[in-house]
Amino acid sequence: MKVVFIGPPGAGKGTHAFMLSKKLKIPHISTGDILREEIHNRTRLGLLAKSFMDKGELVPDEVMVDIVKNRLGKKDARLNGFILDGFPRTKTQALALGNNLDIALYFKTSAAVIISRLAGRLICRRCNANYHIKNIPPKKSGICDTCGGKLYQRKDDREETVRKRLNIYRRQTSSLITYYKQQGILKEVNGDLDLIRLHKIIFNMLKSR
Ligand code: AMP
Repeated sequence: MKVVFIGPPGAGKGTHAFMLSKKLKIPHISTGDILREEIHNRTRLGLLAKSFMDKGELVPDEVMVDIVKNRLGKKDARLNGFILDGFPRTKTQALALGNNLDIALYFKTSAAVIISRLAGRLICRRCNANYHIKNIPPKKSGICDTCGGKLYQRKDDREETVRKRLNIYRRQTSSLITYYKQQGILKEVNGDLDLIRLHKIIFNMLKSR
């Protein structure tokens, strides 16, 4: 199954993709996670990506298309498909990805929910699991329930950068909703719903495919 998750930052794409990937045994491919890993390892790509990400801007299309083509060529994705989270973010990226997708799932999410989720979001340094200070707190403060890794707050989740990321989403990414609707593969869910309820909805939607 080939699925892309579309929606603003803070819509829950990463959290749901992480959970669904484990249950459905489909690789979760998050371009944000790939770039953060490169930054952590201080690679050349990481350095380049950081200069855009810290400002809340998009990394250039040609760099992103290369990364994704490379990742989708790996055996797990070729055999089982993928849940793509954070890609495509522009029309150029969508065109490069092609039209053999099964579902583009749009997480329709209100501004108030986005702001509160991003302000409290914590990420595991080791396995990239997502938590939230209030909504999804880890059992032990600052430590990942799944792998024991350390939790941190993303630099680009600070208020000023979040505003910029939301503007960029509106300007460059939101038109993909119409694009996938025209292709007849768009499904929409309410991204404001709590984690467990929305997880059940998406799980039932995907498992019946
Ligand atoms: P995310 O973890 O999906 O919120 O992505 C974090 C940041 O990584 C974004 O704000 C961009 O700077 C960069 N990024 C991730 N995916 C893409 C993409 N498909 N195109 C351009 N930049 C991206």
